[in-house]
Order: sequence, then C-alpha cells, then structure tokens
Amino acid sequence: MIYFDSAATTSVCEAAAAAANRAMADQWGNPSAVYSFGASAHRALERDRETVRSAFGAGAKDGRVIFTSSGTEANNTAIIGAVIAKSRNRGGRVLTTDSEHPSVARAVSRLEALGYEVKRVPTANGEIDLDALRAAATERVIFASFMTANNETGALYDVASAARIVKSASPGAIVHTDAVQAFLKCDVSPKKSGVDMISVSAHKVHAPKGTGALWVRESVIRAKDLSPYIVGGGQEDTMRSGTENTAGIAAFAAAVAEGAATLTERRAAVEALEEYALGEIAARVPEAKINRPARSLAGIVSVTLPDIRSETALNFLAARDIFVSAGSACSAHSGKPSGVLLAFGLTEREADSTIRVSFDHTNTRDEFDALCAALAEAVATLQRAKR
Ligand code: PLP
Repeated sequence: MIYFDSAATTSVCEAAAAAANRAMADQWGNPSAVYSFGASAHRALERDRETVRSAFGAGAKDGRVIFTSSGTEANNTAIIGAVIAKSRNRGGRVLTTDSEHPSVARAVSRLEALGYEVKRVPTANGEIDLDALRAAATERVIFASFMTANNETGALYDVASAARIVKSASPGAIVHTDAVQAFLKCDVSPKKSGVDMISVSAHKVHAPKGTGALWVRESVIRAKDLSPYIVGGGQEDTMRSGTENTAGIAAFAAAVAEGAATLTERRAAVEALEEYALGEIAARVPEAKINRPARSLAGIVSVTLPDIRSETALNFLAARDIFVSAGSACSAHSGKPSGVLLAFGLTEREADSTIRVSFDHTNTRDEFDALCAALAEAVATLQRAKR
C-alpha cells in the first residue's frame, strides 16, 4: 500500500502504541479517584499534559492544555465555549474565514443561527484577505477563529497578523486557531500567533483516534472567558467533563514527544519530498495543475487533473494500491464540490477534478515515482476515454 492521505489520518507509531498498552495494563485507574491507584493515574495524566503543552512551543507556559475527544471537540469547545461564556457577548460579531474545517465552519454557523453576526473573510489563493478582515474587525467583535494550515490546500494562513488586527480593533475579543494540520509540522506557538486558544488532534500526529487537545491562555480561564462545552463531573479542571481517555492521552503524549524531538529532521524530510514531488508531477504529468497557495505547509499538495472527476482518479489510484483523497476526507461523501477549493479560486469544474496528496516523513521518493506513473497513466487513459 502507498498511503498519501496523512492529512486524513496517520498510522500509530510504536512509541504511542506502547504507551497506550502500558496505560491500559498498569495505569487503568480513574484519575479522579482519591486512593493511590487513582492518584498514580492522575500523575501520569499530568505528566502527559505537560508533554503536550510544551510541544505548543514558545509561550505555552502561559496557558494550559484541556484534553478532548478530538480536534473537532477542541474546536467546538473553543468556539461555542468562548462565545456563550458571557451574556454580554450575545448578538456580537464573530469572525472566521471562508475555508475552515467543518468543525469550525459548522460551529460558527450554529452561532449565526442563534443570532450572532458572522463575517467570513475570503481566502483566495490561500491567503486571508487582511483588508477585508480590517473592514470587518470592529469593536463589536467578540470572537475570531482562523485556521493555521488548511487541510485541503496546505495553505498557511497569516494567523499572527489576523489576530493582531482583531485585537487592535476589539481588545477584549478572544482569538482561536485550528492548528490540527500544522501541529508538530511548523511553529504554532502562542507567542508567534498571539492567539488565546489552539486546537490540535492526536490522530494527525501518529497517535490513535479519539483524543485532541485545546491549549487555552491562562488569562482567558481566569477571566472566565471560556465556559465548558461539556459539563458533568468536573474533570479537566471543570473545563471538559467526562473521565479522561488515559490510554489515548498516554499514546498522544508519546507521539508528541517523538514528534517534538524530531521536528526539524521530519520537517526537512517532508520539504525535500515535496520539492521532489512538485518537480516530478510537473515533468511527468504536465496536464496536472498544482494549486499552490501563497504560503504553504509542506505535506499537502492539491492537484487538479483536468476533465477527470476526482472520484474517478481516486478509484483509479486505489486500484493500484495508492491512496489519496478527493478534497478532504470529510467532504468526500457530500457529493458537492469542495467549498474550500472554490474559496481558493478554483471553478466548480476544477474543484470536481481535484485530488489531495498528503504525506509526511514516513513517505518516500519511490512512492512518489509510483504515484506519478499512475497519474500519467490515469491522464492518458481517462482523458482519452472522455474524448
Ligand atoms: N481541523 C482540521 C484542519 C482538520 O483537518 C481536522 C481533521 O481532518 C479537524 C479539525 C478535526 O479533527 P478530528 O478528526 O480529530 O476531529
């Protein structure tokens, strides 16, 4: 199998699997229990929390990590939790982009249905339109969410400038970033971005599915600017109730420790692979159009194969044991062209003929050679079949 869908999910690394097994075998106590067996599970949980927190980089110590069940839950916790935290927020303005992951886009749409005013800033060519943002950023803004790296195009958004614009117009506004695709791949640090909350997900960084985390600035918690989205027994310092997924969290922390320790090497490897891939695709599949954002995160390449529906290309590649995705894994079943690709500037026809090739340090040049050969074959046979 040749796997080119690491933006959808990743394999579980050995260190993560071993940590999960250890947690299930030896540390299966309830971390909220007061006897010693519970207390040792609690200590392990806090060690894991610190490992994940430090991976957020410069400024991480100014905040805390709340474990969630996914990146989706981290996003919902941040967005709904911050907006409903204060009654004075009611009806205020919420800013976001027109190309967020559904877990942000739909949470924001829900707020809109509840009477909040939502402005979606355009992101043509994978760039936040900062002039449009300046026009929308008034003192009415209570909350803003801008993703760090786009999951369909790999575009890296200028979250730091966006956060600055929002906060200078409305100093009390809370700013969040969905860094699910960027975590452990580039600098998502609170210091660099200046945001108040950052969402990440375990299964994108070689840990199992079912765990996510939200980094929250301590001042936000102190000011009670974030209310819990899930209430109950008061776990996670009351910010997210529900007994913690201690095995998943142990695995997440182990994968994060490995990822953080090898970040520079992995990044260099992925950048070199991407350069190779772009050169090979251009040379061997000249009909393909690569949708390059203004600034991008290495590891996600969006490719339009004119006149070949993405579903057809995907099946053609899958028959050769090569797995890519059509747009994002989440939009693949909707049957509609990806709104993210339309926001990027593609026509509906182009969006309908676009595949996403996503990869990481576990991929190789040989795999790209096989992909290019299969793409060239796809273009030769499928485009000809259309004529
Ligand atoms: N945000 C982005 C940018 C994503 O790519 C994804 C998953 O693909 C998510 C959020 C949701 O994360 P999870 O799958 O952990 O719910």
